[in-house]
Amino acid sequence: MFAQMEYVGTSDLHLYHDAATSLQAIIAIHSTTLGPAIGGCRFIPYSSSDDAIKDALTLAKGMSYKAALAGLPHGGGKSVIMLPNKAFDRQALMRSFGQCIEQLQGRYITAMDSGTLTSDMDAIAQSTHWVTCTNNSGDPSPYTALGVIQSMKAAVKYLFGKDDLEGTRVSIQGLGHVGMAVASHLSLEGAHLTVTDINNDLIKAAVQEFHATAVAPDDIYTADVDIFCPCGLGAILNEQTIGTIKAQIIVGSANNQLNSSKDGYSLHQQNILYLPDYIVNSGGLIFVALTHAGENTQTIHHQVTTIGSTLTDLLLMSHSSSIPPFALANQKAEAILNHASAAKKTDKRANL
Ligand code: NAD
Repeated sequence: MFAQMEYVGTSDLHLYHDAATSLQAIIAIHSTTLGPAIGGCRFIPYSSSDDAIKDALTLAKGMSYKAALAGLPHGGGKSVIMLPNKAFDRQALMRSFGQCIEQLQGRYITAMDSGTLTSDMDAIAQSTHWVTCTNNSGDPSPYTALGVIQSMKAAVKYLFGKDDLEGTRVSIQGLGHVGMAVASHLSLEGAHLTVTDINNDLIKAAVQEFHATAVAPDDIYTADVDIFCPCGLGAILNEQTIGTIKAQIIVGSANNQLNSSKDGYSLHQQNILYLPDYIVNSGGLIFVALTHAGENTQTIHHQVTTIGSTLTDLLLMSHSSSIPPFALANQKAEAILNHASAAKKTDKRANL
């Protein structure tokens, strides 16, 4: 466990167990250098506590990078609650988890993620105010989708010199909260959609509403499209899939799309433009952080639209340096965190 923490550079890891509510939870705080750690809470089945810890550690690091590149005064954190394999009281479990967050006294702010709902955040809010995405503040998915669209526009401008997405052929993997909202935007923009999901009802809805072409989950990689938009699972860009992808651009909301850095370099060698997921999907985090800070909708909307210019700058730097955008983004995020950490140390010394 400590080796894993060292590998991802996590500052602290908190484990919680409450037999009365069947709560088994993990909070990983990667960094608080830029401000309180912020990041969603996953509530899904895990085959082991080791898997859950690994997930929390990896995702927390991604949140640090995401917040740094979005210019937010936050560090990265993530929590994971292992879905109990016996009957449980969901409200009581979430309230108990809220008490765990409260113990950290603001070092970590939670939000929705896979498996959690706004009603869960409401229950957590009964025990702590270090929580967002309650029914009052709302679901971040529409802002995540808006950021994905801004990212696609930056990519087609850079690669094809196009100012809009009209006529662009896009395949979407996963038609959940974000994927369906992305499909809706794209349909309005006049894009042609190919879609898949493991839930047939969602596929039917997209076919009916957006005249999308449906394909089986395994056939989404080989779809003849301009842009592949992963909005379902992580690690889907790997040795098995990369050689089969026909799209020239990959832009999607799913977290941790690259199975490894090696796969990022492999895409670059094959002239497939992969935009770093944690910039593309940062609209949700921007919404969550700014809502918690009490900002209005107009400010939030404006900041989400800056994702496009952040990516345009990155693409131009990538072009002049021949470094893939994902690797440049990592370098930039690490530089921001290292610089802030050095400045903090200098301040501390000056105050001695
Ligand atoms: P969601 O759970 O609502 O949707 C995911 C969809 O993917 C589901 O419909 C599911 O059936 C589908 N799916 C799962 N396995 C699949 C497979 N093998 N093939 C095709 N489809 C499959 O989740 P969401 O909130 O829409 O988030 C989508 C992704 O974006 C996740 O990786 C999430 O971590 C990431 N993300 C979401 C937000 C947000 O604001 N919701 C923000 C940042 C990142």
